[in-house]
Amino acid sequence: MDNDSLKKIISHSKEYGFIFPSSEIYEGLNAIYDYAHNGALLKNNIREYWWRSMVQLNENIVGIDSAIFMHPKTWAASGHVDAFNDPLIDNKDSKKRYRADVLIEEFIEKLKSKIQKEVQKAEKRFKEKFDKVQFLNTSPKILEITNQINELKSRMISAFEKDDLVEVKKIIDDMEIKCPISGTCNWTEVRQFNLMFSTKLGASEESSMDLYLRPETAQGIFLNYLNVQKTSRMKIPFGIAQTGKAFRNEIVARQFIFRMREFEQMEMQFFIKPGTQENWFNHWKDKRLSWHLNLGIDPSLFRYHDHDKLAHYADAACDIEFNFPFGFKELEGIHSRTDFDLKSHEELSGKKIQYFDPELDKNYTPYVLETSIGLDRMFLAIISNSFKVETLEDGSTRNVMSIPKQIAPNKLAVLPLLKKDGLPEYARKVMNEFSHKINLVYDEKDAIGRRYRRQDAIGTPYCITIDHDSLKNETVTIRDRDSMKQDRVKIEEVKKFLNSKIDISIWLKKLSW
Ligand code: ATP
Repeated sequence: MDNDSLKKIISHSKEYGFIFPSSEIYEGLNAIYDYAHNGALLKNNIREYWWRSMVQLNENIVGIDSAIFMHPKTWAASGHVDAFNDPLIDNKDSKKRYRADVLIEEFIEKLKSKIQKEVQKAEKRFKEKFDKVQFLNTSPKILEITNQINELKSRMISAFEKDDLVEVKKIIDDMEIKCPISGTCNWTEVRQFNLMFSTKLGASEESSMDLYLRPETAQGIFLNYLNVQKTSRMKIPFGIAQTGKAFRNEIVARQFIFRMREFEQMEMQFFIKPGTQENWFNHWKDKRLSWHLNLGIDPSLFRYHDHDKLAHYADAACDIEFNFPFGFKELEGIHSRTDFDLKSHEELSGKKIQYFDPELDKNYTPYVLETSIGLDRMFLAIISNSFKVETLEDGSTRNVMSIPKQIAPNKLAVLPLLKKDGLPEYARKVMNEFSHKINLVYDEKDAIGRRYRRQDAIGTPYCITIDHDSLKNETVTIRDRDSMKQDRVKIEEVKKFLNSKIDISIWLKKLSW
C-alpha cells in the first residue's frame, strides 16, 4: 500500500457514497468530512460492534452519553489548557507545517527499518546458520544504529519533559532531518500550539462564558463517574463507555480521515484499585487487540507500540497500530491514566469524588485504565484493508470492498433478473421478508453483471437474484461477494444462511469476553 492507493480509496469513497469532503460547493474545509449513506451505515455498524462488545458483553461496563460542552474548569483540571499542545515547526522552503515530535519519531522509525534491512541481508547470506539474537548483539553496524536510536530517544524524552523547545529544534538540526516535500533542513523555531477550539456560551458579551469544544470524550466520564457508579450500583473494578464527537485543531491534517479536526471517539474508562494498574493495562491491551482480530483482518497488519514519551497523566501507554496505506500508525490507545484526572477534578471543584470500597471499608481515589479508539480511524483501517482492484479470469477488473461481512453497510442486495414477468413484484416480496432485520438494497437497473459490480464496490456480502424459476419453486441464486460463487437455494434457506453469516451476534459470541 502507498499514497497512490490512498488516493484511490478517497475517490472510491466519494464515488460510491461513503465519504464526501465537507462544504464542497464552497471549496471544502480542510480535514473536515461528511459521511454519505454507505459511510454512515458502516460507521454505525463499527460503533455498534464496539458498543455491544464493551457494554453488552461486560456486565461491569455501563454506558453514558455526556454533552460536548463542559464547564471550562474541566479543561484546566485535566491539563488541556496548559498542556494540550503540539510542538510545531515549519519548513521555510516548502511552507509546510509539521509536528516536531512526529518528525523525530519518523526519523527513529527510519533508523529501525535500517536495522531490519541489515537483518534481512544477513539472513540471506548465512541461511540456516543465521542467529538473529547474536547478530543483533554483535554486529558493529547494528550496535551503532541501536545506540543512535537510544540516544535520540532519551534526548527527545528529556527535551519534551523539560518543555525545552530549543533542544527539540537542535535534535532536528543535529540529525539533519529533512522536509519530505522540499528535501531541505531550512526550519523555523519550534513553537507550542494549543489544539482546543474555543467558543462562547451565552447571549451578551458581558455575561458570556468562554468554552471549549471537548478534545476528548473521557472527561465527561470522569465528571460523572460517581453518579454512574452509584446509580448503576457498580463496584470497582468497573468501566464507563462512551462514543461521541471530539474536536482538535490539528496542525497537520492531511491524511484523509486519519487526522480530522472534528472526529468521533469510542472510549472506555475502567476504574480500578490503585496498585492494580499494570495487570489491567495488560488485560486491556490483550482484549482490545482480540477485538480487532475478531473481525478477521490479517493479524500482521496490527502491532503494539509502547510509548517512550508519556502524556502528563499517564504511567504507561501503548498504541495498537495499524498498517494504513501510509504505514503503521496509531489506531487505538491504551493508557494507564493513574488517579491524575479524578484528583485534579477533586482539587479544582472542591468536591469529594472518592470511591467508598466496601471490601476495604475505606475511601480512595480510583486509578483509571483507558481504551480509546477513533471511530473514523477504524473506518479508514477497514476500508483501506478492504478495497481491492481484482483482475478476473476473463481479464476484466472489478473494484471490490471486502468489508468484514458482519459490519458491511448493506448485508444483502435483491435483484430481479428482468424488469418484467412479475419478477420485480416477487423480488419486493422477498425484500419485505428481510428489510425489518437488515439493511438491504433493491436494484433492477442494468444487466445483472453490472449490478453485481455495483454491490461489490460498496461491499455488499450477498446478492440474491430472482428469476423465472423463483416464481415456480421458491428458489433464488445467492452470490457471495468474495468468491463470486453462486448457489441455488430455497428462500427459506436464505434466512438461515444470512443468520449464520452476517448476524453481528455471532461475532460477539466469538469474542467470548
Ligand atoms: P495522535 O498521536 O495520532 O495525534 P493521540 O495520541 O493524540 O493521536 P489520543 O488522544 O490517544 O490520540 O486519542 C485516542 C484515539 O482517538 C486515537 O487513537 C485515534 O484513533 C483517535 N484520534 C485522535 N486524534 C484524532 C484525529 N485528529 N482524527 C481522527 N481520530 C483521532
